[in-house]
Amino acid sequence: MALSDDELDRYARHIVLPQVGGAGQQRLKDASIAVVGAGGISAGVLPALAGAGVGHLTIIDDDRVELSNLHRQPLYATDQVGQRKADLAARFVGKRNPHVETRAVVDRIEPDNAEAILSGHDLIIDGTDNFATRLVVSDASVRLGVPLISAAAQQFQGQVALFRSKPCYRCFVGDAFDADDCDSCAELGVLGALTGTVGNFAALMAIREIVGIGPDAAGTLHLLDGLSLSWRALKISSDPSCRTCGPSS
Ligand SMILES: [Zn+2]
Repeated sequence: MALSDDELDRYARHIVLPQVGGAGQQRLKDASIAVVGAGGISAGVLPALAGAGVGHLTIIDDDRVELSNLHRQPLYATDQVGQRKADLAARFVGKRNPHVETRAVVDRIEPDNAEAILSGHDLIIDGTDNFATRLVVSDASVRLGVPLISAAAQQFQGQVALFRSKPCYRCFVGDAFDADDCDSCAELGVLGALTGTVGNFAALMAIREIVGIGPDAAGTLHLLDGLSLSWRALKISSDPSCRTCGPSS
């Protein structure tokens, strides 16, 4: 569907950018993105993607808001403690931009449901807080041929990378973390403002990817050090023995 007058007005500051224009804005409207986790990272991702006019957003999370989430999850208010995050986040997006179609999936991504939930999207953004889920999401993204932006924040460090089949997230972290939630930020702590910054950076990468602007970001890890305030970019190598994207997979 073409952009309406209301949308042309709403996205005027995008459309005036020569790299985006009406065609780029239309690509955003036509795009479907799955956002895994509705926590701190997604609190940076979702407002940005809703504002940018991404046409279809699927928000996947089975948690309820806890008081200790609020320092890093500005999607939620104090009086919403106890309510389901996926539903609240979808409502937030709908209020922010009624042109965005949202679907809340109150479920946890597991090996047996990952492909069914994630298929049909143009891009997956993973902002969950544990390696086990991230590896399941990554494996499904490789099998489905859907690009993945993986974003994480812990203590004072953030990391974001775009994976397009090879190298994959498993090439980057290996097989050691399939079994447990060993890096949950509950144990290690995280600076609240960092998660939003990392999430917003992930949204920027997503918009670049959907519109098709800038150099290809796939296979590069972007690291933010919240103490020294520096960003670094590192190339991620393919693991020739990777069980997900390697020759024997
Ligand atoms: Zn791999």
